[in-house]
Amino acid sequence: MSRTLQIVEVAPRDGLQNESTLVSTTDKVALIERMIEAGARRFEVGSFVNPKRVPQMADTPELVAALPDRVDVSYIGLCLNLRGVERAAGSRAGNKRGVDEAGCVTVASDGFGQANQAQTWAESVAENSAMLALARREGLVPQVTIAVAFGCPFEKAVPEQRVLDIARRLAEAGPVEIALADTIGVAVPSQVRDLIGALREQIPADVRLRAHFHDTRATGVANAWAAWEAGADVLDSSLGGLGGCPFAPGATGNVATEDLVYLFERSGVATGIDLDRAIALNRWFAGVMGKPLPSGVGRAGGF
Ligand code: ZN
Repeated sequence: MSRTLQIVEVAPRDGLQNESTLVSTTDKVALIERMIEAGARRFEVGSFVNPKRVPQMADTPELVAALPDRVDVSYIGLCLNLRGVERAAGSRAGNKRGVDEAGCVTVASDGFGQANQAQTWAESVAENSAMLALARREGLVPQVTIAVAFGCPFEKAVPEQRVLDIARRLAEAGPVEIALADTIGVAVPSQVRDLIGALREQIPADVRLRAHFHDTRATGVANAWAAWEAGADVLDSSLGGLGGCPFAPGATGNVATEDLVYLFERSGVATGIDLDRAIALNRWFAGVMGKPLPSGVGRAGGF
């Protein structure tokens, strides 16, 4: 059986969190509904963080309550600490649909950890291990992302061995998936191939690998392909390449969903997402945002 690619649509969270325009809950729900029609089956829908710190995510509880209740779709709520996992579990209280997955996030450098969540990387790994265990007890799908795995805005290079050690420690807490994130968009394909390849060898075969790239320096799509070839079966992307980077003013956002669908489908790798529909959604959502979205395929169309 040939390998496929699963795409996680992260526009509702990572995309919109880094845009200055505040998008309404209604438009976020419409985006998710239309991406489901286009074939997407996993979404990062919001973040269980302090609403005062991240106003773009303040409507996460209302958004989650308004999501289509489909058994074939999985919704991820981002969790940065134990309190976040409790809130993700709370979204399911009283037999409500809520989110399906606790998307835990640990950091791979002290500089980024202190700036983002006032923790060293070791403290963050310890808390994430507890978060994964709590998520499992609460009936949430436990999965975890290692942020700044390919480079840190403060410390620059992050040692590969440290990332592998973090992943091995997290694997002991029983996640179904471990992701490496190029949070600031500095990775290059040879680095991605080496790190994902080493990770695939060192963590249990039943733990799925996911990778997360930003197209800040125009290497996002090449990195995505390198990650898939090295053993990542899941990639994050956002419609239109929505988003930015708080550490790189003027940067574009996540690697674009249409760009990945074009690349993989034309290479014979099924993604489940309809390219023409995704391109049409790019045009529609550009209207919502009041500006063109940066995806190359969105601009040029399919072939
Ligand atoms: Zn990101």
